[in-house]
Amino acid sequence: MLNIILLGPPGAGKGTQARKLVEERGMVQLSTGDMLRAARTSGTEMGKKVAEVMDKGQLVTDEIVIGLIEEQLKTVKANGFIFDGFPRTLPQADALGRLLARNGQKLNAVVEMRVDDEALVARITGRYTCGECGEVYHDTTKPTKVDGTCDECGSTNLKRRADDNEDSLRTRLMEYYKKTSPLIGYYYHQGDLFPIDGLAEIDKVSSQINGVIDHQN
Ligand code: ADP
Ligand code: ADP
Ligand code: ZN
Repeated sequence: MLNIILLGPPGAGKGTQARKLVEERGMVQLSTGDMLRAARTSGTEMGKKVAEVMDKGQLVTDEIVIGLIEEQLKTVKANGFIFDGFPRTLPQADALGRLLARNGQKLNAVVEMRVDDEALVARITGRYTCGECGEVYHDTTKPTKVDGTCDECGSTNLKRRADDNEDSLRTRLMEYYKKTSPLIGYYYHQGDLFPIDGLAEIDKVSSQINGVIDHQN
């Protein structure tokens, strides 16, 4: 049982690396971003509120995201979770610690994916994903092999996110620095922090993360 957090600003490569870990290690990815995007298409009151906040690039309330994670931890059996985009605030980090302890589990490592702001603009504005299988692509760094068709599942339903524009990214970065970056100190203090170079090529980032994981017991 191995639980890790992928921590980093929007566009750092968390989703890309989480999917590789799922494939290579059979871990389970828990992405609050994906859960919230599913909630917003559900047509519920919560979904409508969430959509507005997300499109502006602000953070959804702790209560909502902690509730989503709590539900997953209760219902999903896994030999290890990858927390992708959660926690994003100190109260969320405290809640995660409590929820894991309640299940007799702990956090093994927090991988801090370091990427500078200039690189993030290019990452975010070039991002698109497969609407069927969730594979993540990029216009220049990871295009599909055949134009308009997903390499993994053959779907032609490729999508861009409403919040992947420079304007929203600016707000998302501010939110990251104000509310999420304090987690770096929090986990450093706990002895769980492992910084890696997120600017490297996808496979090189991957080997750094695998290096961190292989050093856990
Ligand atoms: P990115 O790929 O840019 O890191 P995510 O897909 O993780 O973005 O999240 C998209 C949006 O969903 C965020 O901008 C925020 O509005 C909301 N969100 C996702 N996770 C959280 C969280 N843990 N706490 C609060 N809001 C969240
Ligand atoms: P996050 O989940 O942290 O927001 P993503 O995994 O969605 O980030 O990656 C953001 C964009 O950058 C995607 O278009 C992805 O294909 C691309 N990308 C991810 N990792 C790298 C990398 N190491 N080098 C170049 N591009 C990358
Ligand atoms: Zn696909």
